[in-house]
Amino acid sequence: MTVTRFAPSPTGYIHVGNLRTALFNHLIARRTGGQFVLRIDDTDPERSKEEYVDAIKQDLEWLGLTWDRIERQSERLERYEAAADKLREMGRFYEAWETPTELDLKRKKLLNMGKPPVYDRAALDLSDEQKAALREERGNGVWRFKLDHERIAWDDGILGEVSIDAASVSDPVLIRADGQFLYTLASVVDDMEMGITHVVRGNDHVTNTATQIQMITALGGTPPSFAHHSLLTGPQGESLSKRLGTLALRDLREAGIEPEALLSLMARLGSSQPVELRASIEEIADGFELEQFGSAPTKFDVEDLKPLTAKKLHGLPFDAVRAEVEALGVPAEKAELFWEVVRENITTRKDIAPWWTLFRDGAEPLVADEDKEFIAEAMTLLPEPPYTDATWGEFTSAVKEATGRKGKGLFMPLRKALTGQERGPNMGDVMQLLETVPAKSLAQ
Ligand code: GLU
Repeated sequence: MTVTRFAPSPTGYIHVGNLRTALFNHLIARRTGGQFVLRIDDTDPERSKEEYVDAIKQDLEWLGLTWDRIERQSERLERYEAAADKLREMGRFYEAWETPTELDLKRKKLLNMGKPPVYDRAALDLSDEQKAALREERGNGVWRFKLDHERIAWDDGILGEVSIDAASVSDPVLIRADGQFLYTLASVVDDMEMGITHVVRGNDHVTNTATQIQMITALGGTPPSFAHHSLLTGPQGESLSKRLGTLALRDLREAGIEPEALLSLMARLGSSQPVELRASIEEIADGFELEQFGSAPTKFDVEDLKPLTAKKLHGLPFDAVRAEVEALGVPAEKAELFWEVVRENITTRKDIAPWWTLFRDGAEPLVADEDKEFIAEAMTLLPEPPYTDATWGEFTSAVKEATGRKGKGLFMPLRKALTGQERGPNMGDVMQLLETVPAKSLAQ
């Protein structure tokens, strides 16, 4: 059975970049009737916050990316301890005491010589006495995984054949000096023990994948299939890393973006398939193929979510919004007409309420100087609300007869006076919704 996972660190809100990872893993599981695990990577007790765990769950639920199981790394520390012991026994794990400054110096030296800044494994040459002295002087060291210096290759679900020379990678630190397990080891243990079969994540993890494949193999496991999607950039190809903070899913939700719009865009953006609004996660899963995604950075424009959101709303039947519309105070007998009129004229749900305000309180009339007299006369011909579906026809015929105006010269000034806008819904419908008509005070 296919088992995938989304493994956020609860150190912030999830954003569009994370969503891509979550969605791809979710879709792979859904497509094959497999399982999707939500794994909370919370081994860092200082940076991990419960409020972010809750927020991540809320955001995923909002999108309908439900999980079959939730796991927390903070509850599995003894599993990581056991794996660390195993690696120690195998001689694949060693303690090192260099300070960050010393490491930095080593890196700079290598870079100056035009060499890759790979950790020189000096700690491997320490005698037992030297280690004891360092421990005495500096306390516990960090623990590094000793890579086998060979090429690590895998068939990546997006990148194709990838091969990395392990000698070009520093032995990864898996346990910090304060004893904290780092994600790299925890993830390996979890992927093995949770039976993860497919891992999709950003291509910033490619080097991690190489080292994790060696760790899984060393621990006697079989590596899952890996795929690395490209990272998102802004519309001009600019880095999004600084802006991702403003592209949190909850901000998009707050801005009125519909979940289907977000899912439809993210499930196809960067692939060879066109972006089209889909109504459900099942429809989105249908036709989702990882192989259709390219490795080039994927341009993301938050504005693209608006037409998709509008399209979703335009297609929504009244029943889907009845409660929401009635909650605004729209009288039940007008609610359906209100929705029919308004849905074509909104981009997000946030635009619904202002329409009701306009119908209920009436609009500030918009009257051009040359139409002042015309409107003054026309308003004498308009009865007080409520209006019926015949009102607009009767009213405009009467105005035409009285003033001689016709066509645009007749209708446009009336629309502007009654709605305060130059464009908008069919006036026959608008009239039936109007409860107050401030323009009537212009009658003379
Ligand atoms: N917690 C890791 C991250 O957010 C997970 C990476 C992975 O998918 O393995 O980057």
